Amino acid sequence: MTPSGPALGARTVPGYDVDAVRQDFPALHQLVHGRPLVYLDNAATTQKPRAVIDAISHYYSTDNSNVHRGVHLLSVRATDAYEGARESVRQFLHAESEREILFVRGTTEAVNLVARCFVRERLQPGDEVLVTGLEHHSNIVPWQLVCEDAGAHLVHVPITDRGDVDLDDFRARLTPRTRFVALAWVSNALGTVNPVHEMIAAAHAAGIPVLLDAAQAVPHFAVDVQAIDCDFLAFSGHKLYGPTGIGVLYGKRALLEAMPPWQGGGDMIRSVTFEKSEWNRLPWKFEAGTPDIAGAIGLAAAIRYVGALGLDAIAAHEAALLHHAAATLGSIPRVRLIGTAAHRAGVVSFVIDGVHPHDIGTVLDREGVAIRTGHHCAQPVMDRFGIPATARASFGLYNTSAEIDALGAAVRKTIEMMG
Ligand code: PMP
Repeated sequence: MTPSGPALGARTVPGYDVDAVRQDFPALHQLVHGRPLVYLDNAATTQKPRAVIDAISHYYSTDNSNVHRGVHLLSVRATDAYEGARESVRQFLHAESEREILFVRGTTEAVNLVARCFVRERLQPGDEVLVTGLEHHSNIVPWQLVCEDAGAHLVHVPITDRGDVDLDDFRARLTPRTRFVALAWVSNALGTVNPVHEMIAAAHAAGIPVLLDAAQAVPHFAVDVQAIDCDFLAFSGHKLYGPTGIGVLYGKRALLEAMPPWQGGGDMIRSVTFEKSEWNRLPWKFEAGTPDIAGAIGLAAAIRYVGALGLDAIAAHEAALLHHAAATLGSIPRVRLIGTAAHRAGVVSFVIDGVHPHDIGTVLDREGVAIRTGHHCAQPVMDRFGIPATARASFGLYNTSAEIDALGAAVRKTIEMMG
């Protein structure tokens, strides 16, 4: 592992038993159009291990109750499980305090929360928010909205021909007007791993806080928010083998304390009168209404699951898959890889000369191979490469080398069929 992610080129991982791992995922064992499912759409969402499905089912079967309000036993158990899940996330991110861990719907909601509650009130006309050319739409549009509101500008660091960010270019775009930096740690469209340590250090040297979009980072390598020193970090449970509808915003405590609430309602208040309300302590100040209790419990089960396998082992296994996939696809005539940065994780994006990506996806599906085709909610990345879309194979901890071979065979078949 490099400090910013796994290096390409790693081979096999001693002791990583991928066949045993696959047994934990019921959805993987099915036929699609009469073929064994080869699931390579993990950047969109991951399949769920039995441990996650069972944790959710157990909660609804035995502990289901509302949290924080009841003295009865089920409510105590539900509260313990929900707050226990927060502690699991704290440990997973190596955050200092569980007060810094907010449960939200996902990465999208987390970015919007920071844009509205932290950045908006710091923006004056003419100020700038800096992102990279690699961002997912959910790390672009919330900034556009607050910039428009404030008369500020959204500035981006363009990406190179390899699909990465030039550090000097990034540093040059930190200006006296830059108020905030928001960065994808790993690009969902190209798999590029940004050198976020260096980028955060450069932003902090200029006194600028940084949010990391870690949606595509946390499934692939270990994350330590204190070591990396980000001010905010966002991720989604469903890309980490957990349920949909739950995600996390980490924020440094002093920043969260100073921020106004996100939404108003139950649980986020200490007291309410018609004249004035007082806010609850962190983290509940930001969690109005009944939270996704089952989602948090499922996410904690997912965190335990990846923790038991070991994120370093997962990173090494996936680096070997990525290396094999890039070599396999790269050796097929007419296939062009999009995004060839030295540090990548989880994703191989490609096009076939003369074949529309949508057709690639359709033929692969008939072969049982599930990939994603389109702009991957990163239209500026597509524009940068002058293409409307790519085909994207993305890997998870249960994928195998044989599945990469199946992908390669299906791509060759596509070229034969499409001429
Ligand atoms: N950022 C990145 C890098 C992503 O890959 C995604 C999901 N594709 C998101 C943000 C948005 O995540 P969600 O839809 O779970 O909010």
